[in-house]
Amino acid sequence: MSVQSQNHRDAWFAPFFKELLASVKPVFGTTAATPFIFPGTGTGGWEAALSNTLSPGDRVVTFRYGMFSHLWIDMMQRLGLEVEVVEGRWGDGAYEDKLADLLEKDTSKGIKAVCVVHNETATGVTSDIGRIRETLDAASHPALLMVDGVSSVGALPFKFDDWRVDVAVTGSQKALSLPTGLGIVAASDKALDARSSAKLKRVYFSFDDMLKTNKNGGVPYTPILPLLHGLKASLGLLNAEGLDNVFARHHRLAEGTRAAVAAWGLKLLCREPRWQSDTLTVVEVPEGLDSQKIVDTAFAKYNLSLGLGLAEVQGKVFRIGHLGNMDELMLAGALGGVEMTLRDVGLPIELGSGVGAALKVWQEGTPVIPTRE
Ligand code: PLP
Repeated sequence: MSVQSQNHRDAWFAPFFKELLASVKPVFGTTAATPFIFPGTGTGGWEAALSNTLSPGDRVVTFRYGMFSHLWIDMMQRLGLEVEVVEGRWGDGAYEDKLADLLEKDTSKGIKAVCVVHNETATGVTSDIGRIRETLDAASHPALLMVDGVSSVGALPFKFDDWRVDVAVTGSQKALSLPTGLGIVAASDKALDARSSAKLKRVYFSFDDMLKTNKNGGVPYTPILPLLHGLKASLGLLNAEGLDNVFARHHRLAEGTRAAVAAWGLKLLCREPRWQSDTLTVVEVPEGLDSQKIVDTAFAKYNLSLGLGLAEVQGKVFRIGHLGNMDELMLAGALGGVEMTLRDVGLPIELGSGVGAALKVWQEGTPVIPTRE
């Protein structure tokens, strides 16, 4: 990323950018979708998804089960959409049965979009987008399927084409292990067609402006070149590892972390095994203990950055992130830090218990690095 300032209007840029656009498709699990790389963040990606496909007053169904699904709902409402929110326990995923009920009642097919946060980073829950698609299909419902993949794309299997997702969104700072600053979006042909009737205003996040310029390898405004170079390198690393190996690594890291949590005698916020996230683990703290104290102590004493409990689960949980450029040994260190912190705040944790449980999972399950066999 540390390259001398360059002019994106010089001849090198178009082939570089065209290749970069093509190379983001595999992390979304698509060959068919059109990719967009916006300077921005995941939130900008949300706005691009909604504003390019919908009109004020359009009915949208979505789920609230954490801070990020909540914030996307807030955006939908502020953009003037009519949002039907399925409220869920913070720690649960998208309820397919409740969606089925709403779709069945919608005999006039008035619902224009179903929006789902794939991996809720506030709660450590991964919803089942395949089953959401099956639910839409079972109701023969034509609503667009929009998915927030901010903390899943590039770390968890994401099957844009198989699930027939219409718009998926991610950001540079999660599984892609880059600094913040890119909102990366994939759109289906159906989503692109929706532009012609979509009346929401869009300027900076306009698909049209992007498409007009991207087709010749150009961009409508100044791109963040260091991040584009970083994205090329990051995708190169993921490809070199092999996406299936990347997904398997994230699963192993999560399994080790879950084993550690169980050994500490603590509980995951996500109770339902099918929804437990492989990119972060969210741990409930015993009644009477403020999880803020854990986060503050870990940072102050061990220089370990844990995630806070947000909004509804503030004080009740802490979050261990394990996505992106992360391996077993790095995470073993982090789990060691958590373990010492838990004792610091007064929990009767036996040192080595959680780390030992994680190491057992990894010692047994970690394959030889492919290039070193
Ligand atoms: N969606 C999810 C699942 C997130 O975790 C985040 C941020 O952490 C966002 C959306 C918002 O993305 P950003 O902060 O990049 O705008």
